[in-house]
Amino acid sequence: MTTVRLYHADSFARAFTARVLAHSTWRDRPAVVLDQTGFYPEAGGQGADHGVLGGVPIIDVQHDDAGAIHHVVEAGHERPAIGAEVAGAIDWPRRRVHMALHTGQHVLSAALVKEANAATQSARLGENACTIDVARDPIPEAELARAEDLANAVIDDDLAIRAWFPEAGELATLPLRREPKVDDNVRVLAIGDFDYSPCGGTHCARTGQIGSIRILGTERYKGLTRITFVAGARARAELAARDRIVRGLASAFTCGPAELPPAVDKLRRDLQATREALRDQTRQLAALVAASLASGTDGAVIATVDGDAELARAVASRLVELGRDALLAAPGAEGTAVVMMRAAGSALDCGGLLGAIAKASGGRGGGRPDRAEGRVPAGIDWPAAVAAAIAARA
Ligand SMILES: [Zn+2]
Repeated sequence: MTTVRLYHADSFARAFTARVLAHSTWRDRPAVVLDQTGFYPEAGGQGADHGVLGGVPIIDVQHDDAGAIHHVVEAGHERPAIGAEVAGAIDWPRRRVHMALHTGQHVLSAALVKEANAATQSARLGENACTIDVARDPIPEAELARAEDLANAVIDDDLAIRAWFPEAGELATLPLRREPKVDDNVRVLAIGDFDYSPCGGTHCARTGQIGSIRILGTERYKGLTRITFVAGARARAELAARDRIVRGLASAFTCGPAELPPAVDKLRRDLQATREALRDQTRQLAALVAASLASGTDGAVIATVDGDAELARAVASRLVELGRDALLAAPGAEGTAVVMMRAAGSALDCGGLLGAIAKASGGRGGGRPDRAEGRVPAGIDWPAAVAAAIAARA
C-alpha cells in the first residue's frame, strides 16, 4: 500500500481531499492510510505535520518502508470510515515554520561547506532547537560568521527554489552536495545555482521566504561540531525574546543595550572590591572578638560567636594564633554552625570531639584532629554539650 505525496508537487497546498484506504496502527495508536495526502510524515529531520482529517485531529504522521503514510488520530476520536472521501487541512503555521527551518538548513549546510569546509552529517529540526552536525571540529568563529553571512545573502537574493525528479541522465550531471539515500526516483532540490541536494521534504518556493538565519551557538559533539540555528518565524520569535531580555537588563542598569557589557563589568569589579573590604572587616572584627574571648581565661576557648560560620572560622584562626584551642558555635536560623581548631602543641582531637557532639545532639560534622566543622541543632547549650562530650570521652 503506497500513498501519493501531494506535497511533492505543491508544498504550499494547505488542504486536499483523499479516500480512506485502511485503518492502521502506529506504535499502538490508531491511524488512517489514504490514497493521497498533503500531510508531511516525519523524515529527514523535519517534523510531522499536524492538522485535521475528516473533522478529526491528526497528531502525528509517519511513513512505513512500503510507502504507506499513517495519519495518527488523536485519542478519543472515531476514524473516518474505510472508503470514505475526506477533506484534509494542514496545521499551516506549524508547517510554514518547518518549511522555513528545513529550507534554511539546506542553505546553511551549503554555506558551511563553502565558507567553513564543514559538511553536514545530520540535522534535526526540533520543536525547540534546530541543530546541524558537521564534520569539522573546531570551526573558527570567523568562518562560522562568514557561512552565516553567505546564507543570509542567499536569502536576500531571493533565489528560486525547485524540487523535481530528474531522469538518470540529468541526475548524473547535477552537482549534488551529498549522495542520494535512494537508488531510483531521486528527488532533487535546487536553490538557484547555489545548492543541489537530494531531498523529499517540503520547501519554500524562494529563499526570501526563509526570512533570516541565525547561528545561536556551537558545541563539540562526538568529534563533530553541533551547530544550533534558527530561521524564519522562529528566528524572529527567538531574537525578539532575547531583545526583551536585553532591554529588561538595560532598564535595570539604566543604560542602553550597548552599555550593558561595561555596566556588568563595573558591577563585577564593585562586587570584588566589596568582598575584599568585607573580608578585611571580618578579619578586624575577628581579632577583637578573639581578644575579648581570650582575656581573663586560660586554656581552650569554648564560646558562642554572634555571627556566621565565616566569622567563627576567622575568630578560631585568631585564637589559634594566640595559642588557644577554639571550640566555637555560631547560632543561625537553620541550626548552629560549629568550628573547632587546635593550637600548636595541643592534644585536642577536633574531629573526634565534634563527631561525638554531633552524634549526641543529632547534628553532623567532623574533620581532622587539628580542625573540624559541622552543624548542631539550633538552641543547643554549646558549653554544656562540649563539657558532656569531653566527660564521656575521658
Ligand atoms: Zn529538503
